[in-house]
Amino acid sequence: MIREFICVLCPNGCEISVELDENNSILELEGATCQRGGEYVQQELFAPQRNIATSIKVIRGNMPLVSVRLTDAIPKERIFDVMDEIKKVKLEAPVNLGQVIIKDVLGLNRDVIATKQVLRK
Ligand code: SF4
Repeated sequence: MIREFICVLCPNGCEISVELDENNSILELEGATCQRGGEYVQQELFAPQRNIATSIKVIRGNMPLVSVRLTDAIPKERIFDVMDEIKKVKLEAPVNLGQVIIKDVLGLNRDVIATKQVLRK
């Protein structure tokens, strides 16, 4: 079986084509311009990870929302669990850039942090 991937580990965005056997072992890999491309494909095949970028409502702020993200990617299958935790949060201005909004969310060793500043109006 042939599968196609786009490596997201750097801005090059290499288009990688892999031939897999029945156990998803890589028989042949083309298109990666460095070794990390193969590592990325292995991770996508066996333990895909994603980050979250979303926003949270802020009351009494000069903007109604603050953008947030995780400090690092988490297993893809936990994305909806973490989104549920983020939805429970209510913030009041001010919110500082880099402020930890949820520490060690769901014990995943990742924090939810603000990626913008919202001042009090
Ligand atoms: S394979 Fe290497 S060069 Fe290509 S996108 Fe991935 S990290 Fe960047």
